[in-house]
Amino acid sequence: LDSVEDINRHWSRAVKELPTTKAFDKLISGGKDGALRLKSDKPVVLLLGSGWGAHSIMKVIDTDTYEVVCISPRNHFLFTPMLPSTAVGTVEFRSLLEPVRVANPFVTYFEAACDKVDMDNKVAYCTGKNSYLDGRRPQFEVPYDILIVAVGEQPATFGTPGVEENCYFMKEISDSVELRTQIQNQFELAALPGTSKEDMRQSLHFVVVGGGPTGVEFAGTLSDFLRDDLRKKYPELMPFVRVTLLNSGSILGSFDAKMQQYALDNFKRVGVDVRTGVRVTEVTKDTITLKDGEQIKYGICVWSAGNAARPLVQQLAAQIPEQAPFQPGGRPSKLAVDPFLRVIGARDVIAIGDCNLLVGDRLPATAQVAGQQGAYAAHLINRGYLPLVGGLDQPPPCKPVTTNNLLDPAYATLGSTVATADDDGAFTGLAFYKKRFEFLNLGMLAYVGDSEALTEITLPGTSIKLSGQLAFLVWKSVYITKQVSFRNRVLILFDWLKVQLFGRDLSNY
Ligand code: FAD
Repeated sequence: LDSVEDINRHWSRAVKELPTTKAFDKLISGGKDGALRLKSDKPVVLLLGSGWGAHSIMKVIDTDTYEVVCISPRNHFLFTPMLPSTAVGTVEFRSLLEPVRVANPFVTYFEAACDKVDMDNKVAYCTGKNSYLDGRRPQFEVPYDILIVAVGEQPATFGTPGVEENCYFMKEISDSVELRTQIQNQFELAALPGTSKEDMRQSLHFVVVGGGPTGVEFAGTLSDFLRDDLRKKYPELMPFVRVTLLNSGSILGSFDAKMQQYALDNFKRVGVDVRTGVRVTEVTKDTITLKDGEQIKYGICVWSAGNAARPLVQQLAAQIPEQAPFQPGGRPSKLAVDPFLRVIGARDVIAIGDCNLLVGDRLPATAQVAGQQGAYAAHLINRGYLPLVGGLDQPPPCKPVTTNNLLDPAYATLGSTVATADDDGAFTGLAFYKKRFEFLNLGMLAYVGDSEALTEITLPGTSIKLSGQLAFLVWKSVYITKQVSFRNRVLILFDWLKVQLFGRDLSNY
């Protein structure tokens, strides 16, 4: 353990000095009404991100004890598993969102991105996202006591030329909004008088690159839209419509071979052309080039071929020498964390979700993992464990215990006397260890089109695998129950009902 003096110093600084730091003053003066409501007697937990991991933290963290500040360029949480449904109008965009300010009104939120972090002085440097002051984006600094990095990942292009400029991604709600408009545009373009058959064939060729759950679900959902709605409105265009799914390996790699085959058979039935073992080497505005030189004309290309590290994560990992052994090929990609989700080699920094690499455990980059890690980290902090320095050879987070020689009751939660205790608060010596994070796998789901899905539900010692319409019923039930609020649940149920009664909306705006 670090010495008691060291830890005391650390927390005293947090309590006594923080509100008077330059960084804090700057932030106050930068805000309209001194919006950052830091209280002098609360340690600051700075949360970067508003996705699955961060949302789970916001729901669990104790805002009476901690001043929680959330910085994210996105002012809402997004229920990503249903994002493909919004691109064709099965579900409306806002039904999947929950504003950060609603998720937890006691969290101070700033719509901004964190650009860099000074981990020695514990200050994060941020830039406002959509707002401009005097023609430039406002910049500000936020001092913290505990930093939680939950910034996820961004779509990986693997350096493939033209992908960034010409493809649509399926990551944020804005991607889906753009895609939905463009799908409709392609049909209206093909329907214009004078459009040649060749142009119709090209405009109405929808290509999905990536055979993971996202690519597969989008291809399945798009085929529903074509069959259920567009066929009725543009019958003369249907002979020109094609949906192609390209993947370098087999599709849905995380499911077993039988289920993969089921998905392939279903796609064949609904008219999605699946091509495996192909690699895209370039995308221009109208042509996709494959490794063997084949050229594919297309109207819309949706790129969903995996994820890559965000610049902030690369920068943080590069800043910490202890991270080097965990970065493949020396290129920083994820923040390596110890079993308590503490960033290895950093002080008081936790990383959760897609942006972390839990050393010794190969966890999938999923909402399930991010959500569970968020709840774990929030409990760790709520119960007063000090994260301290992360590392495989470091002692686990310790729990400060308030004892008779406490300096001031206001310091109680900060643990000005650091010792260890059991859960009932009884003194046990110098080592009360926090239980390591353990992932509880609940299973996997994937929608494959035409009201069919694949589900694998994990129970202790066994798993139940289903495919077809029953699996789709499970898919729907799970996603409805997993919604983050009653409001979202009701909105989605209404959206589904609306589509059943009136079909999907075809208007473009
Ligand atoms: P994210 O949810 O990606 O959140 C990252 C947050 O950080 C965002 O709010 C972002 O705006 C913010 N941010 C980015 N840069 C900065 C910065 N510099 N400063 C501050 N904030 C920043 N998983 C499943 O388990 N099941 C599924 O069915 C499933 N389906 C999916 C479908 C789609 C279309 C997608 C895209 C993903 C799907 N996933 C699914 C994966 C799942 O969404 C991710 O694993 C999960 O979102 C990871 O959570 P996270 O908190 O780590 O990151």
